[in-house]
Amino acid sequence: MGKLRDRVAIVVGAGSVGPGWGNGKAAAVLFAREGARVLAVDIDPEAAAETAGIIARDGGTVETFAADVSDAGQVEAMVDACLERFGRVDVLHNNVGIVAPRPTVEVSEADWDRICAVNLKSMFLTCRAALPAMERNEFRIDPDGRRIGRGAVINISSVSGIRWTGVPYVTYSVTKGAILPLTRSIALEYADRGIRANAILPGLMNTPMIVEPLKDVYGGGDVDRMIDARDAQCPTGYMGDGWDVAHAALFLASDDARYVTGAELVVDGGISAKLV
Ligand code: NAP
Repeated sequence: MGKLRDRVAIVVGAGSVGPGWGNGKAAAVLFAREGARVLAVDIDPEAAAETAGIIARDGGTVETFAADVSDAGQVEAMVDACLERFGRVDVLHNNVGIVAPRPTVEVSEADWDRICAVNLKSMFLTCRAALPAMERNEFRIDPDGRRIGRGAVINISSVSGIRWTGVPYVTYSVTKGAILPLTRSIALEYADRGIRANAILPGLMNTPMIVEPLKDVYGGGDVDRMIDARDAQCPTGYMGDGWDVAHAALFLASDDARYVTGAELVVDGGISAKLV
């Protein structure tokens, strides 16, 4: 009796940039383990296929789709493909995000535009394409007689959208911050239509995406030093991982969160609550 039984989830950024468990890969696998049929979407078809292979070996139902989600046409094709293959869309999990640490005065206009398009415009585009499909779903009546469950949107933001994390990456921080009012707007527009929208703000997580962009910033090119430095920054003494984000996403995707919308769920081991 999975928490996402009979649901169809689009997981955008379902691959992983390197070996191990990224946030999107863990979410796609966990959603499938909880009964969702998953469309695993990634710009890199091999990364999507790797995640799909794990789901299939687990006995789950999965299809892959290759798309650059900063492109409106490809995003519309993604939702069409989901409807064609599975007949509906219940969950939209927006995980795509890229980071390019650089002092503000060294950020090129091209990089600003690219990161805004990949991190922020993509989430607007996927919501714009998927919300009408969710609105076509029937309400479900929960055990208390409430009309719920036409759809759930989960947008992956970051604590760097609300706090300085020690690394200059203005493009990343600005886009991650802007995901919050985007999510809030959708939540309020759709609150009485049975569609919920929430954001997750991961803190410092040990996932493959941090290795290349951050190893020079923290560790002079040494990955182990970078990991030690980030672990030491966390009040827990260690970073979180992709599964911590995936479990928060599962909660928000499921009926356990039936009355949760417009929320900003921090998953950061307490780092954003800390003064120094
Ligand atoms: P990941 O390993 O980089 O996986 C994301 C996937 O998205 C990659 O396979 C990537 O492909 C793909 N992708 C990149 N650009 C895309 C595009 N335009 N269209 C479609 N797919 C695209 O990262 P993750 O671990 O799953 O998690 C990333 C999310 O967590 C981001 O939103 C990030 O900001 C957020 N986050 C992470 C941390 C952390 O410390 N790790 C903290 C806070 C928030 P390529 O590899 O080919 O680029």
